[in-house]
Order: sequence, then structure tokens, then C-alpha cells
Amino acid sequence: MGQIGCTLIAIAVAAAVTALLYVLDSLGINWDSLVIYVSYVIAVIVGIPLLIGFARVVWDVWISLRDKNSYKRSGNRLGHFSTNYEWAKGRFRQAARRAGGRLISLGLAAKGPKGEDLTIDVAWFGSPKPRQVFVHSSGLHGVEAFAGSAIQWQWLKKGMPSLPEHSAIVLVHALNPYGMAWRRRFNENNVDLNRNFREAGDFIPEELPYWDTVNALLNPPTPPGRDRFYLRAAWLVLRYGMPSLRQAIGGGQRLNPSGLFFGGNAMEEGPSKFQDLMKERLVDAERIVAIDVHTGLGRFGTDRLLVDSAAERTEVNRTMREVFGERIEPLAKHGIAYAVRGAQQDMYFRSFPRAKIHFVSQEFGTYNPLRIVEALRAENRWHLYGKRGIRHYTKKALLEVFNPNDPKWRRSVLKRGEEVIQQACALAFGPGNAK
Ligand SMILES: [Zn+2]
Repeated sequence: MGQIGCTLIAIAVAAAVTALLYVLDSLGINWDSLVIYVSYVIAVIVGIPLLIGFARVVWDVWISLRDKNSYKRSGNRLGHFSTNYEWAKGRFRQAARRAGGRLISLGLAAKGPKGEDLTIDVAWFGSPKPRQVFVHSSGLHGVEAFAGSAIQWQWLKKGMPSLPEHSAIVLVHALNPYGMAWRRRFNENNVDLNRNFREAGDFIPEELPYWDTVNALLNPPTPPGRDRFYLRAAWLVLRYGMPSLRQAIGGGQRLNPSGLFFGGNAMEEGPSKFQDLMKERLVDAERIVAIDVHTGLGRFGTDRLLVDSAAERTEVNRTMREVFGERIEPLAKHGIAYAVRGAQQDMYFRSFPRAKIHFVSQEFGTYNPLRIVEALRAENRWHLYGKRGIRHYTKKALLEVFNPNDPKWRRSVLKRGEEVIQQACALAFGPGNAK
């Protein structure tokens, strides 16, 4: 700043002080009382944040002590959450064998970050060709697998229930092992696998509302950086409304193979191998109960049980509401989720038309949807246009939004995961299962 600038500021300050003194004098306020007033103001301005800060420290200490105690009480159950794919897979396999399951590993051509093999691991208990079956699956959305994997480990450790004749329990670990290993939602070809279960010939790109605007916002073909995402996203929310936008974004797309929620051009290797296995083994199935665990949508730490809303499933949905309770929510535009084509349940409906199918996506809520989309967008840019290392901040942020490092959230996952498994087993194998 030049000398003239400094002089002008000095004159302005002097003028302001003179004016203030004149005003104080005309109001009859002297210097002593002014000092007291100013002290009060400073005390309020500094004191309130200090008090809030102190209260927060006390609160945090209390919470951590409480969590530490309940962590001890829960027998270190939070250790059920693995920190990486290899560890999760190793202990799933070991526990499945110990519990008496037969292990089927479906290998993929893609590799993990350290060049490790990637497999979808299936633990099979009971009849190899069952009439009643309960399938519990995790990790269709890669990075979301840690919650489902923890629930499966918890169940395997406790031991499997004894099964009636012609019955089976099937645990499917990491339906998208690439995504789990690389900490992303999508697979080795950037495909969202819960949009990929379609028949050959059903992969034609369809027009989508506001596609150009949504695509420009979500999928810039560059490494991650600051670009006013929240501001631009907030403007779109104001313009189109949250439900329409959520459907337009999350419903899946077949127009940009590098974009978020891409449904693929053909069935991917993992889903295809998994479908072949199920078609072969469940050929005699009369009753299929399936729970597919997801994370991300809904209120933090609370789960919803999402079911297909087609008219022909009204009766099945009624039964599921009786068994699973009020958390059953049909997939529709105005719920926490959105209608999706090519979802995993379509594979069951298509492959086993004679069986009674009860398919539930157990969805554990985490953070605000905008934060999640922002994390997905940044990670996608890093993985496709950056160096794709899994220690990058975008990978860590994605892991946090789909697998919060929060004891309360994790306890809720384990508790509700177990409850829903019990209910599902009752529905699959209980006395009322003839209806
Ligand atoms: Zn998911």
C-alpha cells in the first residue's frame, strides 16, 4: 500500500474516533463507563464461544468414556469391522469353514491395489439345492461392504442355526470386491452393479431428465479440485427439487461410461458369475428370502428395509411388513431412495419365476446426500483421472461416508443386522413359511 493510502486511512480513523467521542459526549457517557461497556461487550463476545468450547470438550470426554465402556461391554464387537478387503475376506473364509460351510469363490480378472486376487466368496450351509433358502449378501456397492461384512462375521462367529430339510443359508461376501478393495462404489469398469442386473438386449441407453446439466455437474473429466460443487448443487436442488434430482442422479444412467451411477453396457463379470451360480443351485427353490446390505441412504445409524414396489408384489410386501415391521419401505421417488432398473432383485424375479421371493435391501443411513454425492464425485475423478492410490483424501472421505468411523453407528449396524437376520430366518424356515 502506498503512503497516500496509509495517510487516508489514518485520517479516516482519526475522523471516526472524533465522531465517536462527539457522540459519546452528546449522550453524556464518560470514559470510565465506556471502558465498562466495552469490557462487557468483549466478555460476551469472547466468553460465550469459550463456554461453548468448554461444554463441547466436556461432552466429547463424556461420550468417549461412555463409548469406551459400552465398547468393553460389547466384547470388542466393533473389531468386526475390517479395515481392508483382504482382511475381511480372510476372516470371512476362515469363519465360514469353522462354522461348517462349504466355500465357493468366484474369481474376477481384475486385481486389487497391491495386485491381489479379487473374489466373491460364497459360504453355503445346508442343502446344495434347497427348496427354502436365505441369502445374505454384502458389498454390491464395493466400499459399502464393510458394514455387511461385519454383520456376516458376527453371525458366523456365533454359529449357524440348525436347518430343516431341503433348506440352505447362503452368505455372499463382497459382491463387488474391486470396489471394496479400491474403496469405491463402482466396479473395475466403473459400473454401478445395482444397475447392472439386466438381460442381454436390455442395455440400450435411455434419455434422462436434465441429463446435460446433471452430467456437467457430476462428471467433470479432470482430477479433483475446488469448483463450488455445493453452490452449483444447491442451485439445481432449488431449480428441480430434491426428489426429482435424487431420482435423476441415483436412478442410474447408460450415457456416460466414466460418470457416476453408470449401469454398464453388458452384464459384468461378477454379477454374471453370481447369477450363474444362483441359477444352478436355486433351480428347485420355492421360497427365497434375501437380505442385501447397503449403506449411505437415510438417517445416520438408522436402517430402512427397501423393497420393490411393483403391483404384483403387494402381497409379498404385506407379509414382509408383518415379519420385518414398519421399517419396510417400497422403492419409490419420494422415499429415501429411488426407483432403479437392473437392480439385484430383478435377477431373482427373472430367474426364479415360480419361487416366492422376499428381497430386502437393508440400507443404513450415514450422512447428508449432498455430502455423499460430493465424495463420490471427487473419488471418481481421482480414480479415473488422478493416480487412484487408496490413501488419497478422496478415498478416505468416501470410506467415511459409507462406513462411518463412529462407534454408535457401527453398534447400530451390528444390532440391526442381527435382528433382521433372525427375522429373515424365521420367514425362510419358520413354521409359517408354507403360506
Ligand atoms: Zn448401496
